[in-house]
Amino acid sequence: MQRLYYDYNSAEPLPAEILEVRILGDRAAVLLDKTIFYPEGGGQDADRGSINGVPLLDVKESAGAAGPEILHLTAASENLKPGPATLILDSRRRRDFTVQHSAQHLLSGTILRLTGKHTVSMHLGAEFNTIDVDTPELPADTLIRVEDAAADAVEADAPLLIHLCPPEDLTQFPLRKVPPRGEEVIRVVEISGYDFSPCCGTHCKSTGQIGILRILGSEKYKGMTRVTFIAGRRVLAENRVLRQNGETISRLLKVPVAETGAGVLALLERSAAQERELKALQEAAAEQKAQALLAKTAVPLKTPAGAPVREGAITETYDSNFDDILRTGRAAQKKTTAILLLASKTENKFAAFCSGKEVDLRPLLKTAMERRGGKGGGGAGFFQGVFESFTALESFLCDVI
Ligand SMILES: [Zn+2]
Repeated sequence: MQRLYYDYNSAEPLPAEILEVRILGDRAAVLLDKTIFYPEGGGQDADRGSINGVPLLDVKESAGAAGPEILHLTAASENLKPGPATLILDSRRRRDFTVQHSAQHLLSGTILRLTGKHTVSMHLGAEFNTIDVDTPELPADTLIRVEDAAADAVEADAPLLIHLCPPEDLTQFPLRKVPPRGEEVIRVVEISGYDFSPCCGTHCKSTGQIGILRILGSEKYKGMTRVTFIAGRRVLAENRVLRQNGETISRLLKVPVAETGAGVLALLERSAAQERELKALQEAAAEQKAQALLAKTAVPLKTPAGAPVREGAITETYDSNFDDILRTGRAAQKKTTAILLLASKTENKFAAFCSGKEVDLRPLLKTAMERRGGKGGGGAGFFQGVFESFTALESFLCDVI
């Protein structure tokens, strides 16, 4: 089986031969005489594309009975049977992963060169990539120096060279990481003058093809530092989104794009000050309403059976929203031990307050509320409920007063 994936990265169809199709339930594993599809490995995801028009779901290398084989996994299809086949590579996706992978080598090599810290593991994701660096911290200014040094390397357009050599010859390379064991030939990827790393992934021909490497952030991870980054067109796509957001904020706040951060901060501070002012005004209004409420005479409540009870209640119905009513009730409650029964005409809700320790509002109100279809609950000193209509709320009030 010929492995063409290191040299083949175009979207042009390539004729090949299907040697065998293994059916695995509703899936098929296709074996080819040659493949242009990179099998998952070295931290790089498998290629996508199609065989005879059937989309690839995954590509895996496995140890077959007669040596290593590459399984092309697809949905089971009548289009897949031994004989001639047409392979089509998702070249855009391949190019993206090739760029991300080369950028990862450049990033890990640059961090090692500038800080002496090694990359322990890496992950190339569909949206962003990460490396874990063996150090508890990488300060922000170091990450900027790393980004700039990587940009220098991109501008220098240094070639990426592939060396295939037996393990005993590896001493000639200052390898950044330990090579895999048990391989007859080790593939060393060199960013000339920058980095040497054993790797089986696909790579750009030179650093210029990476375009740009952008570090998105870093965080502590299991005693190490996880650095998140993107490269190439992903940076362009992200920049478009950021620019669009920046321009929206700039237009709305009437500040230049570069000053949107300070603009939002100022807006939040103004809004917090207004919030504090509003709260003070609401409390003052509640206090006034509470005074008016307390000037009213308390009348005895009726029990669920209709007989008057000892506790006196002050009742009022308001046009205002329920939050206002709750504020009024809380303010008035501090100055009386009478039951306060307050209703909102706009929201069909009521709230009852009582600071008298010997009173339990629940037995006084729950049954009457439920009889009129109300829903609610509470404790001994606070009880609230809501009704389908104002008529139902009014009937409830008549029942208890
Ligand atoms: Zn690699």
